[in-house]
Amino acid sequence: MKFEGYIFTPKPFYGTLSSKKDRIASIKAIRRPKKITKLILPGFISTHIHTIQTHARNTAENMELLEWLSKVIWPFEAKLTKKTAYYSALCGMDESLSKGITSILDMATARHTDSVFEAARNCGIRAFIGKALMDQGPKNLIEPHPLEEIFDHLDKWHQKENGRLQVTLCPRFVLSCSEKLLRSVGELSKKYRLLHHTHASENKAECEWIEKRYKKSNIEILEKFGCLNEWTTIAHGVHFSDRDIALLRKRKVSISHCPTSNLKLASGLADLKRLASLNLSLGVDGAPCNNLLDPFFEMRLTHLLNRYLHGLYGFSAERVFKMATMGGAKALHQEKEIGSLEIGKKADFLVIQVPDFVQFNPDFPYESLIHSITSADIHSVFVDGHQRA
Ligand SMILES: [Zn+2]
Repeated sequence: MKFEGYIFTPKPFYGTLSSKKDRIASIKAIRRPKKITKLILPGFISTHIHTIQTHARNTAENMELLEWLSKVIWPFEAKLTKKTAYYSALCGMDESLSKGITSILDMATARHTDSVFEAARNCGIRAFIGKALMDQGPKNLIEPHPLEEIFDHLDKWHQKENGRLQVTLCPRFVLSCSEKLLRSVGELSKKYRLLHHTHASENKAECEWIEKRYKKSNIEILEKFGCLNEWTTIAHGVHFSDRDIALLRKRKVSISHCPTSNLKLASGLADLKRLASLNLSLGVDGAPCNNLLDPFFEMRLTHLLNRYLHGLYGFSAERVFKMATMGGAKALHQEKEIGSLEIGKKADFLVIQVPDFVQFNPDFPYESLIHSITSADIHSVFVDGHQRA
């Protein structure tokens, strides 16, 4: 397969890209036409999503996090069956692919993790999936030993489908996990080099509960229980203190920035300039708190919010694009395989048809992309060299 267009390599130019089997085989520069009509982008990476919640879209409105979880999301998850979990996850994965997301870090629920892996196997998305680990909280979801299933998941799914599927450890958040569970997650993550993904410091009431219970911040507790390391990706991070950020930097933790979800649940604004020394990536979060699963929308919002907070001297459009691609690949420890268009890397990419009314400007490629292209302009999406949308 061979495509021609403006290619978003680490240093973008006009040319051709070809793939062979699951890899990018060639990238060559050619003379640029007057009007650019096609763009070729690396697949976007959403480092925070709950595809299993997709069927709860538009059912949980006008609530903050803890009420949103206890009144709608946990009851929804508790009612899922093997079959409804499969179709809800599949729906979220198909939607992600159609909007240009080729890799996801997907927190499932307490049960039916196999259904989520099956959906990912069948739709062809690259997926890092973890059972939501909970041993405290809602009676109809918690389990006394939530980690028991993990070795079964590793046997069945880890590195399967040409390495496209991987098992991750996903303690839901500090409030739904005992000290023993969190300590075990930290140990397993280090011992087996497994990604470890959790929510933290998303909402003020959540942070206050933790401070009251432990007399420490969310991040200090994760540090105390051995849960912060280079395999950790934390979603949200709206309410970090300076000390929290220093700890995260020391432990080489990645952050999944989820601007729509943070605003829609009235959690607040995460100021990326404060977090600039950490590896930053983008997450769309789930359908009941976004309610789109659209990386173009998240990139635009991220760039504009930074302009609001810091004027012209916040994050550049290029930095935001790199959060949505290479930052995600680094969080997943896959930077040698995905996250950029380079010969020999996985053929995870998308082709954009530039609308007739848009003059794409190669002098400002990232600004042109983020502010004048949307997911509606996607022509095709490839994962591992297979067309998936
Ligand atoms: Zn989440």
